[in-house]
Amino acid sequence: MGQLFAVEVVYRGVFQKTLAKNITRDIVLAAHNEGKLGISFGRYGDAPERNGIPAKSFAIVANDEQTLEEGMAQYEPKHVDLTVVLDDTLSKGAESWAWYGLQPVHHALKPGATLIVISQEDAPALLKNIHRRDKAYKLAILKGITSFSGMWVFKDDHTDVRVLGAIASALPQLFSLNSVLQFINEKLKSELKVISARNAFDRFSTVDVPAGQGNPEELFKFELPGWDHMRDGVSIKGQPQGGPYADPVTGEVGGFRPARNELFKKYSTRSMRPVVNFSTCTKCTLCGLNCPDASFDITPDGHYDANLESCCGCGICEEVCPVKECVTMVNESEFHDNKSQWEAFRKDKDAYLNWLETTIAKASPIEKRSHGFRYRGQYQEQVPEALEVARKG
Ligand code: SF4
Ligand code: SF4
Repeated sequence: MGQLFAVEVVYRGVFQKTLAKNITRDIVLAAHNEGKLGISFGRYGDAPERNGIPAKSFAIVANDEQTLEEGMAQYEPKHVDLTVVLDDTLSKGAESWAWYGLQPVHHALKPGATLIVISQEDAPALLKNIHRRDKAYKLAILKGITSFSGMWVFKDDHTDVRVLGAIASALPQLFSLNSVLQFINEKLKSELKVISARNAFDRFSTVDVPAGQGNPEELFKFELPGWDHMRDGVSIKGQPQGGPYADPVTGEVGGFRPARNELFKKYSTRSMRPVVNFSTCTKCTLCGLNCPDASFDITPDGHYDANLESCCGCGICEEVCPVKECVTMVNESEFHDNKSQWEAFRKDKDAYLNWLETTIAKASPIEKRSHGFRYRGQYQEQVPEALEVARKG
């Protein structure tokens, strides 16, 4: 059997779908330049994707046809030679649409192989979120602004070619830098992209992460029903319906509140989370009424507390809140638990407000995500900044 290479790209559903698809396709095309064969594909279980859902694309490359066919016989590679993470908030793990539970982002990485994360943070900050494992690996940071775009549009900020340059350095057996540059010259026809790929290759470096180093969090998981545990009609439990609810202040029952999905927790769907200044909140109810995931718990004193098991980080509450800076979306990397903010406020108001201020200030140098394509001219505004960060490396 010849040599087989598997690369997985972990990305945010919808916002990074085209980017991930292009990267895995381009890996195959760059490897073609060395006479290798390959195929790229997305994980079936991640479709249909929802905004922000952690999803995966793969590239499988081999020296000969028989080896490739043997590699393709797997539904998805169980062990990969390289994992690329396109959004550093995915360092907290991937809870994919395909199954219930949280997988560490290096779940499939072979011992000693390399995990590449696109981030503006450093290794110690990322390792607060990346779970520890019992096998050593290498961590590489490709400095850059996270590339998010809409479903049908591609933000051409060179993230794709920078990843190819980094891969050529991390896994030279897969393809050389020359093969990447040949691919860019022939297919993408861009001198600037050649420079971006070369810079990523030249600046590539790794940090050795020994076994046991990283986030000690216990990974949450669910018991999946076997076929003999399914309900009548071989059905499984789905999203419960909502219904009337008791007003926490008056006790009056009425209205309609959508129910939450008990199994799909959405911790890993979020790349930002709302933080609420309860001292300026007027209890106007708008955040609760507009939240698409029914994520707000109404507290006994009538405040609206974002339930972080349920919040997907869409940012709608920040947009609809009429009070200035009462709800602020903050980069998810800043948080290491999912506890109730209102509970913290209730226990010690001054300490909470101090935490709020410090957290928002600390997170502000890290970029705030822009979910998808929002307005005409958005990418023309964002791409120059992304290229500048990439240029500096
Ligand atoms: S960001 Fe706000 S509106 Fe969106 S799901 Fe979370 S709590 Fe709801
Ligand atoms: S929208 Fe703002 S002011 Fe209104 S209840 Fe929610 S947090 Fe409070």
